[in-house]
Amino acid sequence: ETLVNEQQAEWAAKGVDITKPSIARAYDVVLNGKDNFAVDRAFVGEIVKVVPEIYDVATYNRQILGRGVRFLADQGIRQFLDLGSGLPTVRNTHHVAQEVAKESRIVYVDNDPMVLAHGRALLVENDRTTVVTADVREPESILGDPEVRNLIDFTQPVAIMLVGILHHLHDDEGPQRIVDMFMNAVPSGSHLFVTHFCASSQDARDAEEKFLALLGTGRFRTEEEIHAYFSGLQLLEPGVVPLPNWRPDGPVPDELTIGQKLMYGGLALKP
Ligand code: SAM
Repeated sequence: ETLVNEQQAEWAAKGVDITKPSIARAYDVVLNGKDNFAVDRAFVGEIVKVVPEIYDVATYNRQILGRGVRFLADQGIRQFLDLGSGLPTVRNTHHVAQEVAKESRIVYVDNDPMVLAHGRALLVENDRTTVVTADVREPESILGDPEVRNLIDFTQPVAIMLVGILHHLHDDEGPQRIVDMFMNAVPSGSHLFVTHFCASSQDARDAEEKFLALLGTGRFRTEEEIHAYFSGLQLLEPGVVPLPNWRPDGPVPDELTIGQKLMYGGLALKP
């Protein structure tokens, strides 16, 4: 027990609370990462009971992230604001973007202190990539952050990435207003990239209940609600769809599983 308390105190000094599951660390669990604690694994264990495919869902999300960033880079986008970027894993945004164009600039933003602790070393491999600790619920402070402004030129197109994060905002935190504030700050030719938990099945609604009870966030929104984030923008083909159906690299089954429909995503252009 002393050991547990010592470990707890050591992390607490870095702003990390290992007595409660965190979104970033729970996601690290389902991506088979090592930056997580017993509480995070216990939380995922509860989710597995309602959605046994949850590990696959995380993989679908990383895969669409890769396809989406490559698509954006192919469109000529050279600036990426990756909001709620998560703990570093394999093939992060800058790997994909800089593979297409090495001059691409990427700012990772997350409010989990672990992301900064681990991200500094692993994500910041060059002077065109940085990690900023900030909260998306305060868009003004992100848009005004000197480190952000140092890498992102807001007169040139920017990819606003809200991948797997908006469902961690409660309705009364105004996710739509947050999206609008970021999109208003970027010029025509910019893009919005969103993936989101979708209330697409009874199992999804059961999962929502568990997320809210055990993690405190995780709003599974309807297809229409997810669609609404893109209003005023030009939604690109194939629209807002289950993750495996968004510009797949290979064949996709006609009939998707509950896990394959657990998250929806889409990409839009600011006209
Ligand atoms: N974007 C990555 C991906 O899709 O692979 C990571 C997604 S992970 C499920 C969600 C991330 O959003 C976590 O790392 C969490 O810490 C972060 N996050 C949640 N709420 C946030 C907030 N209000 N501000 C900044 N980051 C937040």
